[in-house]
Formats: sequence, C-alpha cells, structure tokens
Amino acid sequence: MKETKQFETESKELLNLMINSIYSNSEIFLRELISNASDAIDKRKYLALTSNGKVALEEYKIDLSYDKKDRTITISDNGIGMNKSEMIKNLGTIARSGSKEFAKKMKNKDEEDVDIIGQFGVGFYSAFMVAEEVEVTSKKENEKAHRFISDGKENYTIEECDKEDVGTTITLHLKKNTKENNYDDYLSDYRIKELVKKYSDYIRYPIMMNVTKSKPKLDKDGKEIEGQYEEYKELETLNSMVPLWKKNKSEVKQEELNEFYKSKFSDYEDPLLSIQLNIEGKVDYSALLFIPSHQPYNLYSENFEKGLQLYSKGIFIKDKCPELIPDYLKFVKGLVDSDAFNLNISREILQTSPVLKTIADNVEKKIVDKLKELKNSDFDKYLKFWSSFGEHIKYGIYSSYGFKKDLLNDLLIFHSLKQEDKYISLKQYVEEMGKDQKYIYYASGSNLDSIKLLPQIEKYKKQGIDVLLFDNKIDEFAIMMVREYDKKEFKSIASEGSDELTNEEKEKVESVTAEHKRLLDNLKDSLKENVDDVIISSKLVDSPVCISTKEGLSMEMEKTINEEKGEGEDVKSIKVLELNPEHELFKIFASIEQDDEMVKNYASVLYDEALLLEGYDVSNKQEFVKKLNSLIVKAFEK
Ligand code: ADP
Ligand code: MG
Repeated sequence: MKETKQFETESKELLNLMINSIYSNSEIFLRELISNASDAIDKRKYLALTSNGKVALEEYKIDLSYDKKDRTITISDNGIGMNKSEMIKNLGTIARSGSKEFAKKMKNKDEEDVDIIGQFGVGFYSAFMVAEEVEVTSKKENEKAHRFISDGKENYTIEECDKEDVGTTITLHLKKNTKENNYDDYLSDYRIKELVKKYSDYIRYPIMMNVTKSKPKLDKDGKEIEGQYEEYKELETLNSMVPLWKKNKSEVKQEELNEFYKSKFSDYEDPLLSIQLNIEGKVDYSALLFIPSHQPYNLYSENFEKGLQLYSKGIFIKDKCPELIPDYLKFVKGLVDSDAFNLNISREILQTSPVLKTIADNVEKKIVDKLKELKNSDFDKYLKFWSSFGEHIKYGIYSSYGFKKDLLNDLLIFHSLKQEDKYISLKQYVEEMGKDQKYIYYASGSNLDSIKLLPQIEKYKKQGIDVLLFDNKIDEFAIMMVREYDKKEFKSIASEGSDELTNEEKEKVESVTAEHKRLLDNLKDSLKENVDDVIISSKLVDSPVCISTKEGLSMEMEKTINEEKGEGEDVKSIKVLELNPEHELFKIFASIEQDDEMVKNYASVLYDEALLLEGYDVSNKQEFVKKLNSLIVKAFEK
C-alpha cells in the first residue's frame, strides 16, 4: 500500500530554502550521496565483522550510472540499507545539527553569499538541488524492501517494493534545465568522473561506473580500419581509494608530492617545501602541507582566503578551513585529515572545536620546525623562502604582540652592517658580539644604502660594532614585540642614549653641555615645536647633527603609522636633536652663541640638516637654503 506523508515542518523549511535559492555549488550532491553510501557500507561491514561469521562479508562497492534519455542519475550501494521506519525517520525528518544550522543561516543570508552551502553538510537533502524527484529504494537484511519517492516540496510517498539485494539505490530525476543551470551537464562520463575525483577520490570503497570507451574498428580479417572507431563499455573504478597522505611516508616520493600539490592547488611550480605528517597523539591526524616556491598572485588581495582542506576519514569536508592555519602562515597550502570530525559538522561547531585547535597548534609548530630545519640545512633555499614570506613571519611576531616570539625568533634573519649584503640570524649576532656589548643594535630606514649613511651609525662603524639593518617597515614593529633575545635587549641606534659611553666620554659631554648652556637653551626654545630636547652628542663622528627619539616610537615608525592610519590625528615620536661638538657647524653656532636672536633665527637650519641626514625631506626647502647661505656668508664676514 502506498502511503503519502508530509515532511516535518523544519524539513519543509529547509527544502524550500534550498530549492528556492541559487546555488553555485549544487555539484556537492554527489559527494553527499556517495558519502552516505560509504557510511552505509561501513555499517554493514562492521556488522559482518562483529557477527562471528554469521553475516558474510561482501565485495562492497558503490555503483554510479546515468541515463541521458530519462535524465536520471543513479547511485547504488550494498550497504546496510533502511527499513520503512528508518526511511521515514532518516529521509523524512531533519534532526541533524548541521542541517538545522544550515536552515538558520540560509534564512539570514544576504544575496551575495551564495557559497554558504559549501560550509555545511546538508546530506541527503542536497539531492533536491539538482533533482525534481528523488527515488530511494532500500532493503535491509531479512526485511522487506521499500521505495521512497519525493519531489522535495510537501510530501513523500512510501511503499513496499521488490528489491533483491541488500542496500540502497537512489535515483535522481534531474530538474529541467534553466538559463542558469544546465543540469544535463551532469549526464556525462567526464563530469561524473571529475566530481568523484574532486570530492570522493579517497572513499575506501570502489566507486564504479560503466564508462564509454572507443577502439579502432576491425575489418573481417581482424585488421584495424584506419580512422574508424567503435564505442564499447567498460566498468571502471573512478576513485583511487588510498589517499596520498595516508600512505607511509617512506613510500611517498617527492615527485608524487610535487604532482599532487600542483594539480590540487593549481600551481605551475613545484612547492619549495612539502611536509607530510602522520600524527598519533592527543588527536590523531594526517596532513600534507606545502610552502609554495613563490607568492600566490593574490596573496595581498582582500579576497585571498587562507585555510587548509579538511577531510574526515578520507572524505572531503571543506575546501578552506581558516581555523587550521594562523594568519601569518596564510600562504601555506595543504590538507588535514582526521577521524575526529563528523562529515556534517557545522561551521559554528568547527570554529570552536578544541580538536581543531589542537591540530592547528600542532600544524603550526611542525611548519615552523621544518623551516628552522631548512634554515640550518639549506640556507640558500631558506633565503628563497625568506624573500617571499619573511615579512609574514615578522608579522606573526608583531600581530601576536610578541606571544609567538619564542616560536619564531629563530626564523628571523636580517642584513647587518658587518655582513653587508648577507643575512645574519639573531643567534649569530649574539654569538659574535663583544662581551662588553650590552645591546643588540639596529638601525632602520627605507633602504640599506640610506641606513648605512645615517649619522648615528658612524660611531658603530668606527668601533666595529655590528648593527642590524631594518629596511622593511615591519622590522621595527616586530622587534618591539621581541624586546630581547638571549637576555640581550634590542636598541635602536637612533634612540636617545643608545651608545654606551665611557666615563671619559661622559665627563666630556657634561662639560661641553655646561659650557654651552645658553646656546642649547636657546636652540631648545626655538625648536620646541619640533624637538623635545637639544643635547651634546657623543655618537657622531663626521656628521654635525642627528635626530634621536626617546623610548617608544621611532621616526620610521611614526612615518609608517601616519601613512597607514588613514584619518585621525598624526602620531608623533618624541625627538631629540643631538649636536656633534667636534663639528665645524657647531663651532660656528658656538661663535654666535651670545647673540640670542641670531641663534634663534638659524636654529631651524640645524634641525633641517638633521632631517636631511636621517633621510627625510625638509619642510621648506627655500627657507632652508636661504638661511644656510646667509649663515655661511655671516661666518665668512667675521
Ligand atoms: P548524515 O549522513 O549526516 O546522517 P544525511 O542527510 O546525509 O545525514 O543522511 C540521513 C540519514 O539517512 C543517514 O544518517 C542514514 O541513516 C540514512 N541514509 C542516507 N543514505 C543512506 C544509504 N545510502 N544507505 C543507508 N542509509 C542511508
Ligand atoms: Mg550524509
């Protein structure tokens, strides 16, 4: 007897939402139905394995077929099957959290967000995205077979039917083609093979289809007729069944990894580094991780999506799972497979999953370890990595407010004064520094050449002290977060009092300061808009002046922040003008120091000169040149 039943309200809502939405992703129906078939086989196999030989093991498989004329696709399995009440419970109601979440999200979704379905497992119902009618016949061991038919709108019918073999067969009657959707597209060997490869390659049971092949026609003597072919059918297994990442590491060749990476993540170049993980620990998982040889073309674009693919038990769940990779490693490609997830896990549950967090932490650590290893074993290759992604590592330190410094410190390399164009690690710097040297010195600027010309660096050059050269905007910000390495603090050579003075030097500075108090006070007063203090310096050798900043913001950082902050008030570093008492320019000022007016008049020349030497522009070029010239003229008049 044929019974007609209504879908539960919630199921109806969901069906409605799904059917009436535009899907960019309707192709996932096949993944869902195949994964259900695989689950059903799992159950039947388990039953057989635990029945003490009462239930025989079968050759488990999933069969696919399609009929172009009837416009149907059929998915058939020899799994556990369903009886009548199970069909009603499983196919007529919606109880799974994933689907509920999905229904909720779909209701609130805005127009653009059509990809939302990809974020949920919607299971059996996804069949209605492509089918106007779905027919399910199913039989359990020793029970009667039933047929469930529905158009996915209001009702479904259920009746007894004939079916010999245990298992489930699902037939989809495809929807009529529309302008947006050509459902006929699914009715081809090519498309079905493609979908299986894409989503279900690693299902552990064979997915079989009778595919059409062609061979040369033979004449009556059995010889090939040139240019003439005939078609024939051949049963083919469409999936490879063994995922690369589940194979023993020693069995996987680098070449296989390279090919896998290139085809899966559409890159033309081999990866710089491949990492295969088979972790047994708090959470068991396998992973394949790749560091590309070059920056992805859209790495800096707004719509770049980071994330690793997520699989569960070899079944593809999600393409880009952002929770699996920290922002600073967003260039890493790869996948994670863990039995710990359920296929229909909702996005919300996934996001807060402690299991996912454990895996993500572990993956991050493994990647960093591998990079450290690379740095020690193949520095040239590491340099290649560094030139593409070094900035991201620094960003990792900066954006974690230094929380990740212990993890990442040893990945850092910098140019330095002594190493010229080579790079030096922090470890190397500390090993090579003199035993009296207190700080790790750095200097920052927009490029190496201009940094090497900074007035403050002269003394370090003369004394043979190495200085790290920061030519990237993020360097100083990152180092602020690192603070110290191997108990040595970082110090900018452009910060006030950065140089370590001998007693002799100290005394000299003090006596010159006392001697020229009037000059210094006058300069300070005239420049109070620009600098916080004017002092006698001991760090300058050839240059007349320099600008230092007090602890905190440097001039480079000030510039970067103001450039990038958009609207709002500019930030300001606290600046100190330092004068070289040995320099001619100072001597000229000293000679006019009794003339307060004149000192005030020319104070800005000193400040502007310092600006120029630090690599910045003066604010008013005409004014600067005019004052400088008249100063020179005056000096010669004397
Ligand atoms: P899920 O797979 O997450 O449980 P689905 O909507 O995909 O959700 O499937 C609903 C239920 O229907 C399954 O849990 C299963 O009990 C049943 N089912 C679906 N397909 C099959 C099948 N091929 N064989 C046996 N049972 C199935
Ligand atoms: Mg399912």
